[in-house]
Amino acid sequence: MIIIMLGAQGTGKGTVAGILNKQKGWIQLSTGDIFRENISKGTELGVEANKYISKGCLVPDEITISMVENRLEELKNEDGIILDGFPRNLDQAKKLDEILAAKGQKVDWVMNLETPRDEIIERMMNRRVCSKCKATYNLKLHPSKVPGICDNCGGELIIRADDSDEEAIKKRLEIYDTQTKPLVDFYNEKGIVIVEEISQRINRLAEEACKDFLSKIEG
Ligand code: AMP
Repeated sequence: MIIIMLGAQGTGKGTVAGILNKQKGWIQLSTGDIFRENISKGTELGVEANKYISKGCLVPDEITISMVENRLEELKNEDGIILDGFPRNLDQAKKLDEILAAKGQKVDWVMNLETPRDEIIERMMNRRVCSKCKATYNLKLHPSKVPGICDNCGGELIIRADDSDEEAIKKRLEIYDTQTKPLVDFYNEKGIVIVEEISQRINRLAEEACKDFLSKIEG
């Protein structure tokens, strides 16, 4: 089963993917996490990707697509894969279809998360991630039990570098609107999009969205 998480930055894609991973054992493939890991290790890929990520820009397709293709090959025996942060534009989406078709696979479902824009910006400012296992927390919505420490692995919680710069946040949201949002139509035409609203204002958080999503795909 291949599932794509769509939704602007800060809607909770990582949190939702983490819940689905715990409940169903499906593997989360987060392009952002792979880039950040490479940046922290100082690899060639990390150094190149950071030139774009630090400015809030997308990493070029040729780098991103081959990275995802390799990872998908490594995960070929998994029952379920959740793509979090990929595809981010139409070219990536079309290429993904080709890569999967060559393996006799296809995108099964797209979970499109929707959150009011003012809540998104506040969430990104309050987001903390584990420096070791990459679990995501929010200081207000779902804080760790011990402040600054990951519940899962005891790792230190940190602010993502690209979340601390308001200009980069705005740029990322702009790119989402122009490049990533058109994917909703692309996948709607295939009839595989499930929209899930996540909003603090109506007290509908990630757990509820996952429950609803699973009930829809599993019947
Ligand atoms: P994320 O953790 O998904 O918000 O990704 C963090 C950053 O990594 C993005 O702002 C982009 O610079 C880069 N990135 C992640 N996924 C992609 C992708 N599919 N294509 C291009 N750049 C990406």
